[in-house]
Amino acid sequence: MDDHRDIATPKRTQEILEQFGLSAKKSLGQNFLIDTNILHNIVKSAKVDNQTNVIEVGPGIGALTEQLARAAKKVVAFEIDDRLLPVLEETLAPYDNITVLHQDVLKADLDQVAAEHFSPDDPLVLVANLPYYITTPIIMHFLESSLKLDSMTVMMQKEVANRISAAPGTKAYGSLSIAIQYYMDAEVAFTVPKTVFRPMPNVDSAIIHLTRKDKPAVTVKDEAFFFAVVRASFVQRRKTLRNNLQTAFGKEEAVKDKLAAAFEKSGIDPSRRGETLSLEEFGRLADALIDERLRLNQAD
Ligand code: SAM
Repeated sequence: MDDHRDIATPKRTQEILEQFGLSAKKSLGQNFLIDTNILHNIVKSAKVDNQTNVIEVGPGIGALTEQLARAAKKVVAFEIDDRLLPVLEETLAPYDNITVLHQDVLKADLDQVAAEHFSPDDPLVLVANLPYYITTPIIMHFLESSLKLDSMTVMMQKEVANRISAAPGTKAYGSLSIAIQYYMDAEVAFTVPKTVFRPMPNVDSAIIHLTRKDKPAVTVKDEAFFFAVVRASFVQRRKTLRNNLQTAFGKEEAVKDKLAAAFEKSGIDPSRRGETLSLEEFGRLADALIDERLRLNQAD
């Protein structure tokens, strides 16, 4: 085998899949990249250099993994599909700085993995062509761990990337934008046509680059409550805040009075829609609701 042939070409991808008698599993979101230029651009957007450690989710047959290994200090990749392990063993054999973990990333103890494989002083980034059926859960899993990630550079459906990076007042802005922008600065690095994947997905994709803010976008009294208020405000997008929050908190007169007081105190017009509020305004509103002793069931 020629060690330095790129995996991500249509021909080599086809050869590898045939050699191992494999076909892509739709249920695991398997769409393999077959364009090395796109991979180079991903590595460039992620600013990976030989001091940087990388976590990858879903190496597939190793297309992105090998490009990362060439640029990075060390790569640890989580792959759930056991059929791909012998493939990766062969395709990634030329590299001695890659560890593939056969694990569902959503069940992985990320802090423990990082402690085992990386020095805490090295920069650490997440780079992945994500399985699209669990894009948001994966990003949230990383955000909610205590892992010190410097950035995330991840491929996802274009529509989801637009939602994550959306500004208030736009159609794409919603609770996902706020959940991510609370912790991270988000920018779409570039978009990717569906033609560079095998099999081809139904939609175009985008690479999003997320960098951690020094501190959350807004300081709130209770984070879980803040996110619950945000979600409640978007339950029916076309409805006003007053309407959505009455549905969430209750329609009794006493509750309505407290809601009115919270709107007044926070200076937010109750006839606005959630999609027009900045994170800072949601923060003011959530804190005012706490001051009125209004609470929600935050289980969902
Ligand atoms: N990195 C490869 C590429 O760019 O060609 C493959 C990307 S493919 C879109 C997504 C990969 O994630 C697949 O290899 C799939 O098996 C893997 N995957 C799906 N769910 C996973 C999970 N819960 N944990 C870890 N890997 C997962």
